[in-house]
Amino acid sequence: MSLRRVRQYCAGGPGSGPAMRTFRYERAESVSGAVALLAEAPQGAFLGGGTNLVDLMKLDVARPDLLVDVRRLVSDRIEELPDGGVRIGAGTSNSECAADPLVRQRYPMVSQALLSGASGQLRNLATTAGNLLQRTRCPYFQNVTTACNKREPGTGCSAIEGHHRDLAVLGTSPECVATHPSDLAVALAALDATVRTDGPGGERVVPMTELHRLPGPEPQRDTVLQHGELITAIDLPPLPFAARSHFRKVRDRASYAFALVAVAAALDLADGVVRDVRIALGGVAHKPWRAYRAEELLRGGPADEELFRQAAEAEFADARPLTGNAFKVPLARNTMVATLLDLAGGPR
Ligand SMILES: Cc1cc2nc3c(=O)[nH]c(=O)nc-3n(C[C@H](O)[C@H](O)[C@H](O)COP(=O)(O)OP(=O)(O)OC[C@H]3O[C@@H](n4cnc5c(N)ncnc54)[C@H](O)[C@@H]3O)c2cc1C
Ligand code: SF4
Repeated sequence: MSLRRVRQYCAGGPGSGPAMRTFRYERAESVSGAVALLAEAPQGAFLGGGTNLVDLMKLDVARPDLLVDVRRLVSDRIEELPDGGVRIGAGTSNSECAADPLVRQRYPMVSQALLSGASGQLRNLATTAGNLLQRTRCPYFQNVTTACNKREPGTGCSAIEGHHRDLAVLGTSPECVATHPSDLAVALAALDATVRTDGPGGERVVPMTELHRLPGPEPQRDTVLQHGELITAIDLPPLPFAARSHFRKVRDRASYAFALVAVAAALDLADGVVRDVRIALGGVAHKPWRAYRAEELLRGGPADEELFRQAAEAEFADARPLTGNAFKVPLARNTMVATLLDLAGGPR
């Protein structure tokens, strides 16, 4: 039997007056039960820590008629895998994950990414899965009185002609220029992590680099997940050189602020030569942006500032900034170079 309650909340944008919306709250006792509950509720949603979803409900941006609480259902454990990788249960809190000794030693950029986000109280509540599926912070998405293709397809994009200082410069579409806000997702994309899910179509494994989408003509879809597909765990592959990794975030305030630009990088050096490298960028696109072009240029080359700069230039060659966010292109390039120099042990 599941616990069943009915909740009501006030919602309404400025000027629209409050509307009372009713929704059902369920706490399923099994993964299959949770999946079955959402399969029957096209407007339902899973609930993790609620730190993003409940905020969006208060703003009337999200209007689920059913919340299936999965926080205690999916694993909250972090364990070593037989191949030397690490599995993070989807219900692990952001605080626990950041503090975990395995994560800190083998993948420091994951811990650093988490600690650079939100606040201590929020990280205690927020789950790994919920963090990855948090929605964009575009101000128009969060304001129901404005046009927004992501919130209401076909209404237009207020940001392109409006306030877009914080928004994307890579992989945008005429329909949407939003950025993905999760710092954790950036570190996981750099590591080639995989996302384990269970849903109406059964279990599957999604590469982290393919979980989030570019906006294209359908910006309302953030990810490739289907309705009712539950994230159960994240697997970090064995990557010894990730012990030499770093997450660097540039933002307007030292804490409690989303990334203007972020870089997650791991560097494998031998005799001053880049043997291998992983780089992903945050704050620049609708998804964590894996810098494949830069990585390709760096492999086999000298670990010096000149090559790092060439790689950063190459990665942003196709950037299409708007007037208000053109500053992000040099900022991101410089942040990438600085992060690589730090990992290489200073300027050369
Ligand atoms: C003031 C403030 C500042 C913040 N700053 C940052 C920051 O700098 N960097 C950063 O990265 N984040 C930041 N955050 C966001 C915060 O990290 C997220 O709100 C949080 O990680 C979401 O996790 P949650 O468990 O509360 O998700 P919820 O709000 O519960 O859910 C979020 C989404 O995930 C879905 N979901 C939850 N669990 C599952 C599951 N197991 N399977 C499938 N779907 C699921 C929900 O249906 C919902 O769509 C900030 C938040 C606030 C309020
Ligand atoms: S950038 Fe995307 S989220 Fe923001 S207003 Fe445009 S369509 Fe909406």
